[in-house]
Amino acid sequence: MEKTKIICPRCRGNGYIKVLASVDNPTEMTHQCPQCNSQGEIMIDETRFKNIQKERDLLSVAHIKKLEEEIDMLRKQKIYLQSQLRKKNDTKTEQTK
Ligand SMILES: [Zn+2]
Repeated sequence: MEKTKIICPRCRGNGYIKVLASVDNPTEMTHQCPQCNSQGEIMIDETRFKNIQKERDLLSVAHIKKLEEEIDMLRKQKIYLQSQLRKKNDTKTEQTK
């Protein structure tokens, strides 16, 4: 099977990763990247690589769609809240009359 070389996703090609020592001790520790053995690159089956790319594309499309739905929902919420606010202001003006 065809193999292709990609930048290690774990360390982004650095060959090492920085991790915090512990939750209580936020000191950055440098570790050798276990995924690529500090090579910064990993060999991967080309088919698998293409699948990952395809998956990633699908994921971002789904993600964007979800975000758009959220924006739509928030927009509706905003319109609703604005109408509520207007109603409230209207009552207030009527009371002060
Ligand atoms: Zn790595």
